[in-house]
Amino acid sequence: MASERLYHSSRLAPSHDGGSDTGHKTEIIRICDLHKTYKMGDIEVNALRGINVTILRSEFVAVMGASGSGKSTIMNIVGCLDRPTRGAYFLEGQDVSALSSDEWAHIRNRKIGFVFQGFNLLHRTSAVENVELPMMYNGFLSKERRQRALEVLQLVGLAERAHHLPNQLSGGQQQRVAIARALVNRPSLILADEPTGNLDTKTSVEIMELFQNLNDTEGITIVLVTHEPDIAEYAKRQIVFRDGLIISDNREN
Ligand code: ADP
Ligand code: MG
Repeated sequence: MASERLYHSSRLAPSHDGGSDTGHKTEIIRICDLHKTYKMGDIEVNALRGINVTILRSEFVAVMGASGSGKSTIMNIVGCLDRPTRGAYFLEGQDVSALSSDEWAHIRNRKIGFVFQGFNLLHRTSAVENVELPMMYNGFLSKERRQRALEVLQLVGLAERAHHLPNQLSGGQQQRVAIARALVNRPSLILADEPTGNLDTKTSVEIMELFQNLNDTEGITIVLVTHEPDIAEYAKRQIVFRDGLIISDNREN
């Protein structure tokens, strides 16, 4: 199909540099004995209490668990938005804790695509301009940025809405724009925290089918938080958190 050709064309194919090779598949995430403690005055909250997990390229993982179990905390650490209190996190073989804030910003921009519950689009800015934003610092000409953004909008099935403003789009369409924005820099990894949390059931299914299709046909690695079992079923692997610990993980390999 057209989307396959687009992502695997020289312009859009994911870069496969970096990472440690574990047999036939590359390791994207390795987390060892990770702890996160939030301090609020005299009170300490142990949000993560010793997490060990490895995620390989092209996996599609759902992170599940009740509210307060530590799902967003682990996503913030994996996304280089927050640092662990203790333990190690390797992204494509690189020890992230050793990096400076500038290097973090670079990783966030190049290696990770974020998708949020509330879409987080700029409101006075068209769909295609929203998708172009992550490319602003990449040294592309504006013409190249526009072409790439349009290609990725086509990949998520939104080519004909490229010049609409977010408020002229449905919630599902806005989330597609956000997914296109997350993909545009060919990240190693897509992180999505409750991406269907603001969507009705039918639209949630469409968005999950889009993630599934991106994973199946393009091999994009996806880690997605949800507290809904029906949504988690779209992933190939389900990891369940409880009270800051992983209590189950049905990894196949
Ligand atoms: P989930 O996303 O699974 O609902 P979180 O990772 O947001 O859970 O939160 C895990 C625990 O850490 C909760 O007890 C929460 O109240 C606490 N927590 C999260 N963020 C902070 C923060 N910035 N400061 C203090 N406590 C926090
Ligand atoms: Mg959360």
